[in-house]
Amino acid sequence: MSQAPALVWFRNDLRLEDNPALHAARACGAPVVALYVLDENLSYAPGAASRWWLHHSLKSLSEALEKAGASLVLRRGESAESVKSVIAETGASHVFWNRRYEGPLVDTDKALKAELHEQGVDVATFNGALLREPWEVKTKTGGAYSVFTPFWKALRNLGPARDPLPKIRKIKGADAISSDHLDDWGLLPYAPNWAKEFDGVWKPGEKGAQEQLKRFLTHIIEDYADQRDRPDFESTSRLSPHLAFGEISPVQIWRAIHTGMAAGAIGPNNGEKFLSEIAWREFSYNILFNNLTLVSQPLRQNFKDFPWREDEPAFKAWTRGMTGFPIVDAGMRQLWRTGWMHNRVRMIVASFLLKDLLIDWRKGEAWFRDTLVDADIANNAASWQWVAGSGADAAPYFRIFNPVTQGEKFDPDGDYVRCYVPELADLPKKFIHAPWTAPVSALEKAGITLGKTYPIPIIDHSVARKRALRCYDAIKGG
Ligand SMILES: Cc1cc2nc3c(=O)[nH]c(=O)nc-3n(C[C@H](O)[C@H](O)[C@H](O)COP(=O)(O)OP(=O)(O)OC[C@H]3O[C@@H](n4cnc5c(N)ncnc54)[C@H](O)[C@@H]3O)c2cc1C
Repeated sequence: MSQAPALVWFRNDLRLEDNPALHAARACGAPVVALYVLDENLSYAPGAASRWWLHHSLKSLSEALEKAGASLVLRRGESAESVKSVIAETGASHVFWNRRYEGPLVDTDKALKAELHEQGVDVATFNGALLREPWEVKTKTGGAYSVFTPFWKALRNLGPARDPLPKIRKIKGADAISSDHLDDWGLLPYAPNWAKEFDGVWKPGEKGAQEQLKRFLTHIIEDYADQRDRPDFESTSRLSPHLAFGEISPVQIWRAIHTGMAAGAIGPNNGEKFLSEIAWREFSYNILFNNLTLVSQPLRQNFKDFPWREDEPAFKAWTRGMTGFPIVDAGMRQLWRTGWMHNRVRMIVASFLLKDLLIDWRKGEAWFRDTLVDADIANNAASWQWVAGSGADAAPYFRIFNPVTQGEKFDPDGDYVRCYVPELADLPKKFIHAPWTAPVSALEKAGITLGKTYPIPIIDHSVARKRALRCYDAIKGG
């Protein structure tokens, strides 16, 4: 009699190296069925830019599995039903998956696990996404951390729970069963193909993730601590989409950084600073795991009454990069063109939406979730709440970024603006972050007519700032 296969359910862990679920499945000796389910009715189904990434990442995973000896089975439908139906078709006796931490998904997983156990199917689940499980990093009294610095100290002391697992090179694949065709899922945009520039910027998949890590370690990390706030050149790792899809794990990154620091190839300042950013990701997951409504409700109760404004024209101007503030517009256009935005600029555009325009952070969160290739439920919601001042360890409510001085400080020559707002390219550096202050002659020389070729600012920042402070004052201490 042939051996019952083991099913590996891939989710946000699209890799063969350091994949605990895949490892365990192979170790049990049974032939392996590899499954990915596209569940479009799931809470937090991938947004449009993530669907582009997902297509390419699944293609890459499928090719890597094929090379190792197994096929990737693609199914579209309700997650638990699809898993059960593949178990029924293959007679799988074991199921392996890496855990997820978003509220509703945790419940779905738990219910499925219980049901399969009842049916006599063995289920084993693993941590494939975090350095430590959210319930492992606890305060002295056993509670969850709400402030980053002590959280980071505790996580640092614990380190990752395990060493990275080696790459799986050979898998005994189970007999073939039917699979959807990836191209039929329509994950890629067409008519119009708004993602045409993505191809030149990104290489989705595990191989792309490893190449990006290598590039970061050899060319970028040496200036990371000093330069990471500069959007005008490649100053950060750009590993975020690879992490969001689990093409690389934080455990692998932790190991790479520590190995580099031990060998003297990575300075301790840069290594530690970078690891602390990875720790922010862990912190976000901790917050999400302990606050299931992080995406929809402010963590601080007084923000429930915040007087957000409805202003569709202003929201539209923000999404299109047409606010008249060059650094904001450059960021929003970088997002549209590449599916990614530099962290400093994310903070600036978020502050502008929430504080200058007084538009609800949930609208910004949803726009980012749809347009970012690295859209990540935990990082995105926690970061929006951080900027709003309504989240854990949040930025103080009175920190309202001035888009002009932020631009001058972090894009001092205006190169970032020139790249993404080409209609301002010929404006001298001293006016690039505030074109409305340029004399008519300078505007004419640069071919700019404000209000025609580039917008007049949609709001007066100093007036908006005072208005935001009045709103925040009204809810303070609530
Ligand atoms: C309003 C707003 C929304 C955001 N939405 C997302 C999102 O949807 N997905 C996402 O991954 N990040 C999000 N971030 C956090 C951060 O901007 C990105 O992680 C970072 O810009 C990714 O670029 P990088 O990989 O080059 O970063 P690096 O500086 O190289 O950092 C390495 C990794 O650390 C993690 N990291 C870095 N900064 C943060 C942070 N502030 N919070 C949590 N994790 C962090 C990311 O996983 C990142 O890939 C958001 C930030 C803001 C202000």
